[in-house]
Amino acid sequence: MLKIILEGHDNYYGIADVVRLFYGPAKEAREEQAVICENGPDLEIISRVTEGEVRTFIKGQMPQGSGLDKIPLKREVKRDLYILLSKISGRSFPWGCLTGIRPTVVANEVGRDPSKMTKDYLVREDKANIACITAEAEEKTLERVPEELLNIYVGIPFCPSRCEYCSFISSDAVKHLSLLGPYEDALEREMKLLSEGMTRPVGTVYLGGGTPTVFEDRLFGKLIESIAGTLHMTPEAEFTVEAGRPDTITEYKLDAMRDAGVTRVCINPQTMKTETLTKLNRRHSSEDIVRAYELARKKGFEAINMDLIAGLKYETAEDLLFSLQKVIELQPENITIHTLYKKRRADISREDVLREDGAVDDAVSRSYDLLGEAGYLPYYMYRQKDTGYGLENIGFSKKGYECLYNVAMMTDKRDVLSIGAGGVSKRIFDNNRFERLPCVKDVLMYIKDVETISRRKLDFWERNI
Ligand code: SF4
Repeated sequence: MLKIILEGHDNYYGIADVVRLFYGPAKEAREEQAVICENGPDLEIISRVTEGEVRTFIKGQMPQGSGLDKIPLKREVKRDLYILLSKISGRSFPWGCLTGIRPTVVANEVGRDPSKMTKDYLVREDKANIACITAEAEEKTLERVPEELLNIYVGIPFCPSRCEYCSFISSDAVKHLSLLGPYEDALEREMKLLSEGMTRPVGTVYLGGGTPTVFEDRLFGKLIESIAGTLHMTPEAEFTVEAGRPDTITEYKLDAMRDAGVTRVCINPQTMKTETLTKLNRRHSSEDIVRAYELARKKGFEAINMDLIAGLKYETAEDLLFSLQKVIELQPENITIHTLYKKRRADISREDVLREDGAVDDAVSRSYDLLGEAGYLPYYMYRQKDTGYGLENIGFSKKGYECLYNVAMMTDKRDVLSIGAGGVSKRIFDNNRFERLPCVKDVLMYIKDVETISRRKLDFWERNI
């Protein structure tokens, strides 16, 4: 069992994050002023801060500092522990000691100087470079998202079947498909109540999930019409629909989207290998993806996003590059590369995730090169806790087609109002502080309490801000 004893500081959270990176689950034991990891080596490590100096060492050995430049103290204790655990385990990670979800924030703090990111945070050179490039693109894109406009997320936590790797929705969401009608009804009620209480114009709308196109044709048409008719969208508003699963995309739904003013559609293959899709419980083929894509083009959609996932179970690194080639051939405006994300709920073990990590890391880097050669530029990025392979998710775009909602959401610099079960609203104060308001995840409770939930949201936003 690995035990990290904290002396002179209380950064339990950061210490646990670093330990988790190397050895999996770690828990705080505040009564012992320690962080404990059952899967770690049998060691006790002291993480000590005295008079602003950080020393991290194995109990019984000489206290040592890293000899590196000073960085904010909370991060320095993480960095020192990272250095020691790297020596002990013989492992290092592409993002060095950074465990947060927004590498571009750190890139901005170091003046978008990749060498400083590498020196101060032990971030690998290629990751430091892409973080700095993306930070600049995020800032430029954000200039196109006026602060006075509201950004709205409408959430549909249902899917036709649950993909094996899914960590976003519970298996109940598939069982509860009979609730689609009442859920749609509740969404309409919430949109009406919020729109009556908040007259602020809306600059972006993102209908996400789950799979928003899981509704049968007419119910989907009703929802999309209601969104367009109820929310106070500006004439130029960006309106994205995640039509993630191609088996749920029909001509009727695409027509309904186009008539409602949808400007951007996501058709997400995740992989272009049908064998993998079948094993993952996605009930469609790669041909279905191409068909759905071509249909969307025929209907006149000018911005299409396609997501791929690196590190999928059953796939080699070469499979990712194969899928990416196929997607690039289609020439969508946006391509997003995700790295497998796992939470306890996902049916994938840590061993699976750690398998071939070097190969996946390499394939991800090569996929970024391929995208660059094909004219796609990174414009937003984020990491998730427990992202497989310690990597990241990056959205790439052809110039001028960057998704404004994604940047508004990821940078924590614009207000986001969330409608539906499980979403989180975010209100920004003075461009650098924000508060969140999560909404109940349980669909039945949401349907039952939608009026109360809407009132709570209106209170949060203080009418007519
Ligand atoms: S489509 Fe997305 S949200 Fe739905 S089950 Fe698959 S991974 Fe989960």
